[in-house]
Amino acid sequence: MAEIRVQQLHKAFAEFTAVKNSSFTVNDGEFFCLLGPSGCGKTTTLRMIAGLELPGSGEIFLGGEDVTFKRASARDIAFVFQMFALYPHMNVRQNIAFPLVSQGMPRAEIKQRVEAAARTLQITGLLEKSVSGLTSGDRQRVALGRAIVRQPLAFMMDEPLGALDAEFREMMCEELRNLHDRLGATTVYVTHDQREAMSMADKIAIMNQGVIEQLGAPQEIYERPASVFVADFMGSPAMNFIPFEAALPRGATSAPVGVAALGLPAVCEAVAARSLLYGVRPEHVRLAPESAFRAEVLSTEYLGTCQIVTLATAQGSTLRAKLDVNAAAQRGDPVGLAFDASQISLFDQASGRAIRTARDDIAVGRSSARGALHG
Ligand code: ATP
Repeated sequence: MAEIRVQQLHKAFAEFTAVKNSSFTVNDGEFFCLLGPSGCGKTTTLRMIAGLELPGSGEIFLGGEDVTFKRASARDIAFVFQMFALYPHMNVRQNIAFPLVSQGMPRAEIKQRVEAAARTLQITGLLEKSVSGLTSGDRQRVALGRAIVRQPLAFMMDEPLGALDAEFREMMCEELRNLHDRLGATTVYVTHDQREAMSMADKIAIMNQGVIEQLGAPQEIYERPASVFVADFMGSPAMNFIPFEAALPRGATSAPVGVAALGLPAVCEAVAARSLLYGVRPEHVRLAPESAFRAEVLSTEYLGTCQIVTLATAQGSTLRAKLDVNAAAQRGDPVGLAFDASQISLFDQASGRAIRTARDDIAVGRSSARGALHG
């Protein structure tokens, strides 16, 4: 397996720039997710790494070797697509063996490799079966078998679970991650599903309009989003944003919103008077009858383990709170709200970028103690 390093990768299709100067490193053995909404440049990035698309500028290194202008077939990378095309006239064994047969590998070695791949994927019992009768989950396992049997330097996976229904997708997510842990394979995985990325990735690059907005471990990105875009994209329900206007001195620990002073982790640098956003995740909102921050309950959604309560604040924002099922909230109730000050994010409304607070410094200390999380 090998490290993948991408430097200042840029790609335009006529007037349209799909990928804008992206740089990142996928460490040897890492499970790396390219995450973002449709059209943000994930697949184009993946295709450039695999050699299926030539970059306009920039460099790609695979295991330290510059492969920017190498043909796809010379890169020793295996690709797994969403629409896995299995050969219907071949059985499972023949489908998995296909890339090795094409390489002219000796039959005994092919047999040994195919059977090892089948054991890894727990599909030994299917080897002599026709692919036409397989479930979509098993078909995807066969497609994975065809990729792993090659023992490539790295795997590129483009929404490989996108064609599966929800139940299979969840199961395959777990299987893919387990498979990755067993093989220790450097993997670049494209998805638009933040839950998939959060549950599988060691590191995520979150993309927006061809730009990598943030690079980091899932927890780091969730807890310390670098921008409003990232904060909004990660998490369901999404983060709440409460707008306010203020100048904040260095070390400020509260935000003046209407008549309330909402708690903050200490602001690292003074903020000149401007429009800001107070960012709070639904799980960090609670009911506080005495609070000066007032709202009205618009609706409640019972989810068994919690309830999602939608609220209209006195300032005109709509918030969502993830509350205990026993929390007393009925449609039309006036309520006071409090927020977990240690978990707040603060953003500049004009640029959409996060403003650094003591929370970032604490989290940086924690993550550097665990190992390098930045790409
Ligand atoms: P999706 O999941 O929808 O494919 P994505 O993030 O993977 O989204 P890309 O497939 O990388 O996005 O496409 C990024 C942008 O580049 C899109 O607007 C797409 O229309 C455009 N694009 C991709 N390939 C080409 C091409 N060959 N010619 C012209 N435009 C292209």
